[in-house]
Amino acid sequence: MKIIQTPEAMRVWSDEQRRQGHSIGFAPTMGALHEGHLSLIRAAARENDVAVASIFVNPAQFAPTEDYDQYPRPFDDDIAKIEAEHVHTVYAPTAADMYAEGYATYVHVEKVSQGLCGASRPHFFRGVATVVAKLFNAVKPHRAYFGQKDAQQCAVIRRMVRDLDMGVEIVEMPIVREPDGLAMSSRNEYLTAEDREKALCLSRAVRCGETVLRNGERNARVVIDAVRDLMREVTVDYVEVVDAETMAPVEIVERPVTLVVAAFLPTARLIDNIKFDPGEQQT
Ligand code: AMP
Repeated sequence: MKIIQTPEAMRVWSDEQRRQGHSIGFAPTMGALHEGHLSLIRAAARENDVAVASIFVNPAQFAPTEDYDQYPRPFDDDIAKIEAEHVHTVYAPTAADMYAEGYATYVHVEKVSQGLCGASRPHFFRGVATVVAKLFNAVKPHRAYFGQKDAQQCAVIRRMVRDLDMGVEIVEMPIVREPDGLAMSSRNEYLTAEDREKALCLSRAVRCGETVLRNGERNARVVIDAVRDLMREVTVDYVEVVDAETMAPVEIVERPVTLVVAAFLPTARLIDNIKFDPGEQQT
């Protein structure tokens, strides 16, 4: 396993791969890897000549009140999981490698990052866009793999890549779920048994919303009310039907949309979503 720590060393490796004509697939993560992460790493390896996974808990996307210090960091286990996928290059910079003394440059993606998670976590997408831009500059991938689980994050990254002419293909991979439906997340391990049970209402609620949409309902308000009704056990942050690309709320479902939900449990804030394209409906 080749563990690369600095942006300079990462660029040297990537330049050499590109010189040899290899396509580079990239799966950025914050570690504490589960099957959701591994699905991205697997796809990066399958669809490219070489693959890189990164492990970096990005301080720029955590507010001072959030869980940066407590965030799980089982580094050796993560490396073993990546190696088991036959991926032999990991980029794992330190916070000091990424944000040196005097660091002052941030990427702010307007509009798409404003509502939803951007509303309850105001620093979040600025931190995410900044770190992904920096990771792309070091890894120089041809394709980068992100999870639909973080649908707004995908939309923000796509917008950034287009607006800044980054020339990286963004591949969005389906949400990987636990057998009972809960979307996998590194933060699920914060949940008590009782809260984990309550957390199941998120996946049940989005599945119900999907059924309502498939049955022909096009009024977003009706869908939202049905979804909220199933989330009474948790403190709802938001339930919205948004345009899949811009993440702006829609009233009538006429284009591809994402039904997004977020909720606060005592020990973790959880998100889930489903995508729906009225044009793909079977009659
Ligand atoms: P994180 O380590 O939480 O920053 O996540 C790294 C990447 O894994 C992001 O692109 C996430 O969207 C993706 N991811 C996290 N959970 C899942 C999941 N349950 N299914 C698919 N992808 C996921």
